[in-house]
Amino acid sequence: MKGVNWGNLYNQFKNKSFDANKLEKEIVRLMQDEDVTKKSGIYEYLLDGEEKRLNIRAFTPNMKREAYEKQKGICAKCRKHFAIDEMEADHIKPWRIGGKTNAENCQLLCKDCNRRKAGR
Ligand SMILES: [Zn+2]
Repeated sequence: MKGVNWGNLYNQFKNKSFDANKLEKEIVRLMQDEDVTKKSGIYEYLLDGEEKRLNIRAFTPNMKREAYEKQKGICAKCRKHFAIDEMEADHIKPWRIGGKTNAENCQLLCKDCNRRKAGR
């Protein structure tokens, strides 16, 4: 696979005790996940759990607009009203626990709430 540093990965894997079966299943699952846009990051993700390795698909402007209308411009967290460009799309159910990047799983938070949620 392109973009993978195999020598480095091998060294990291061999120092951890992985269940080969479980690992294989996880790789197949991530390969088939449409929200994973960077398949070459799967191995690194399995090592360090960093979601950014996978470039999880972002919500489209259409999904964002739809959620905005559904919420009538109200932030899902602090319940205040914002303009659409003051808000950010967020997974209601996090991708990590099976949430998808689709309209049903999209909510808008104001930038402050989104930042607080992410713990950044
Ligand atoms: Zn808010």
